[in-house]
Amino acid sequence: MNLLVYYFKMMHKVLLLVYRWQKYLFFFIHLLYNIINLLKNKISVLAIESSCDDTSAAIITDGVVISNRTATQIVHQQYGGVVPELASRQHLIHIIPVIDAAIKDAGMDLHNIDAIAFTRGPGLLGSLIVGVSMAKSLALSMDIPLIDVHHMHAHVLAHFAEEPKPVFPFLCLTVSGGHTQIVKVNDYTDMEVLGSTIDDAAGEAFDKTGKMLGLDYPAGPIIDKLAKAGKPVFNFPEPQVSGLNFSFSGLKTSILYFLQKAVAENPNFIQENLHDICCSVQTSIIHILLKKLKKASEITGIMEIGIAGGVSANSYLRQSFIEEGKKLGWKTYIPAFEYCTDNAGMIAVAGYYKFLNGEFCDQNVTPLARMEF
Ligand code: ADP
Ligand code: MG
Repeated sequence: MNLLVYYFKMMHKVLLLVYRWQKYLFFFIHLLYNIINLLKNKISVLAIESSCDDTSAAIITDGVVISNRTATQIVHQQYGGVVPELASRQHLIHIIPVIDAAIKDAGMDLHNIDAIAFTRGPGLLGSLIVGVSMAKSLALSMDIPLIDVHHMHAHVLAHFAEEPKPVFPFLCLTVSGGHTQIVKVNDYTDMEVLGSTIDDAAGEAFDKTGKMLGLDYPAGPIIDKLAKAGKPVFNFPEPQVSGLNFSFSGLKTSILYFLQKAVAENPNFIQENLHDICCSVQTSIIHILLKKLKKASEITGIMEIGIAGGVSANSYLRQSFIEEGKKLGWKTYIPAFEYCTDNAGMIAVAGYYKFLNGEFCDQNVTPLARMEF
């Protein structure tokens, strides 16, 4: 009998304890449940990029890009620039095989995907529509969330596709065919533009110079190669733009006038001086870019600095950036080549961090040719 009383008393005490500490107990069990779920469930996001002339798909699992496939469009080469109508049609042809390849590379099937990320803008509207429609259809049919990504945010976040990764806050010089910006990056989803081009982008300056020289499109990589055998013997006036903004339209015009005058005097001037012209133009563009980047570091006091975008593939920019960084005590970051030009790997990184923040969009989302940063 005594034992029974003792037993009931003990039970009473335990129940009282559970009652008193219930909210903590509930919290603890919930935490344990989440940890077990996180360990068990990997988060995989499929990303689609189609903002210009590259169709790309990638998969990121728990923050690691495990596949990244891109189909480039050679059809534009004969026109010396991207033809929007042709770009859209090429995206339509490439998009399904590219997504298929990215999924196969990752050793997955569609059922392993937790969300679809896509480039919403900025870019060519016809090109964006293909990627956005594909993303929406996939998300709808699989009943999973949709994540819209800003193309320029993604270029910056390309730094997180692989090690080493910059530490926040860092500065990023994003230089591509359509954009030239210095961005202060506070966090994965918190960035501010400190300066940008008021006219042409740095990539455009390369490509348009290439057109004047009779080079194929895109001329950036060709100028890079030709410049290696040249010297910067020709000088072009540096644009005077206030603050951290850039301008490349004046440079383009002065190159044009310089070439017109030189060719009038010697019709073979371009052929005879091609390497030196390329080297001089490249030196001028990179000088302008690095001067503003140095200024941005001085103003903000930030020493963690990265470069991103298609032009960051330029060998002279990479070399000068690293040398300058060593001189000034910067920690410098350059993403691997495949994450520099347009690719879905960077969209996947941006999408993954938006996923963790619970930042989704709905089926009414539309592509934006211009999109606020
Ligand atoms: P966008 O997103 O604006 O289409 P990308 O990020 O794909 O641009 O970059 C393409 C641009 O990068 C083109 O203007 C191209 O000429 C330039 N580019 C690529 N490689 C190099 C290089 N090695 N040197 C200079 N410019 C380059
Ligand atoms: Mg781009």
